[in-house]
Amino acid sequence: MSSSRLSATRTDEMREQFGERLRESVNLAPYTSARIGGMVDYLLIAKSAKELEEMAQQLWNMDMNFRILGGGSNVLVSDRGVRGVVILNQARKVAFDETSAGPRVRAESGASLGSVSRRSVDRDWLGLEWAATIPGTVGGAVVGNAGAHGGDIASSLEVAEILQQNRKPESWRVERLNYGYRDSVLKNVPGSVVVLEAAFRLKTAQESLAKAKLAEFAAYRQRTQPGGASWGSMFKNPAEKYAGRLIDTAGLKGLQIGGARVSTKHANFFLNLGDASAADVLRLLKTVRDRVDKQFNVELELEIELFGDWDPDEIEGVARQIDGNA
Ligand SMILES: Cc1cc2nc3c(=O)[nH]c(=O)nc-3n(C[C@H](O)[C@H](O)[C@H](O)COP(=O)(O)OP(=O)(O)OC[C@H]3O[C@@H](n4cnc5c(N)ncnc54)[C@H](O)[C@@H]3O)c2cc1C
Repeated sequence: MSSSRLSATRTDEMREQFGERLRESVNLAPYTSARIGGMVDYLLIAKSAKELEEMAQQLWNMDMNFRILGGGSNVLVSDRGVRGVVILNQARKVAFDETSAGPRVRAESGASLGSVSRRSVDRDWLGLEWAATIPGTVGGAVVGNAGAHGGDIASSLEVAEILQQNRKPESWRVERLNYGYRDSVLKNVPGSVVVLEAAFRLKTAQESLAKAKLAEFAAYRQRTQPGGASWGSMFKNPAEKYAGRLIDTAGLKGLQIGGARVSTKHANFFLNLGDASAADVLRLLKTVRDRVDKQFNVELELEIELFGDWDPDEIEGVARQIDGNA
C-alpha cells in the first residue's frame, strides 16, 4: 500500500493504451454518494459492458491494479485517494423481456439499480420493488447483495456475467455467488472479478400491486432515513440486533467529528455536512464502534468498504478494509 505516484513509464504506457479516454489525477469525491475522497491516479469511464470487459482485460495484461466504481454509495474513499486505476462503470443498457418462463430483466452492471427497479414496477412486475430507493449500480448491488424491505439481490438474481483474468466472461448462476447478509464470494476478491451484466427473473403481479409496494417502501424511507450526503447504513446489523438502535441507545445520535455527524433521524446513517474528510468519518466510525462495544459488548462490523490508499495503522481494528491499493 504505497502512496507513491506511478512512474512516468507507467503513465506513458497508460496513455499509449487508452489515449484520450485516460484521465489523470481525478478527484473521486463527486463520484461518491457521500462526496468524500481524494484523487485517483487514473480514471477510465466504461460506457458499455463490452468496453468494461476490454478495459479490465487490458489492465490485467499490463499488470496494472484497478478497481471498479459504480455509484460510489458503499465506499469511503481515503483522503489520500486511490493508487492505480479506477474504472467508473457507466455501462447502462437494460432490456426487459416477456419470456415463456415469465418476465426477465437484463441489465449492464453500470445501470442504476433504482431505475431498473422502477422500470420493472412500471410494467407491474414484482421482484425488484424493494430496490427502487437504493442508490448505486446493478454491479455494486450484485457484489454486496444489496437488500431492503425483506428483499435482496440473492432472491431476485438469476445469473450474473462475471469476468476474471485470463478467462472469457462466464455466466454464474445465483447459487455460485454464495450470498449471505450483504456478502458474496465477489466481495472478498476485489480487483480480481468484474460484474459485466446481471439478469433478474421477475413475476407478473396483479395491476398496481408492485406500484403500491414501491410507494409504501419509499414512504417508509422518507419517514425513517435522512436525506443528504451519506452511505446509507454504515454498520451491518449484528445477529438479532439493529446497529442503529445500539448507536441510538448509546446516546450517539448527533455526535459530530469535523464535518461528519451521526444522523439524528437514523443513528446508523452518518452524514457529510459539507466539508467532512474521510479522516473525520473514520474517527467517527471508530468512536461509535468503541462506545457501542464498551456499553453493549458488541463489535459492530462495517457495512461500507474503506476504499483506496489507507494507512494500515489508521484503520486497524475497523473491520472491513478489503484492499489497500486500487
Ligand atoms: C442513502 C443510501 C441508502 C442506502 N440504502 C441501502 C439499502 O437499503 N440496502 C443496501 O443494501 N444498501 C444501501 N445503501 C448502500 C449502497 O447503495 C449499496 O451498497 C449499493 O448496492 C452499492 O452500489 P454502488 O454501485 O454504489 O457500489 P460502489 O460503492 O461503487 O462499490 C461497492 C463495491 O463494489 C465493487 N463493484 C462495484 N461495481 C462492480 C462491478 N461491476 N464489478 C465488480 N465490482 C464492482 C466496488 O469495487 C466496491 O468494492 C444505501 C446507500 C445510500 C447512500
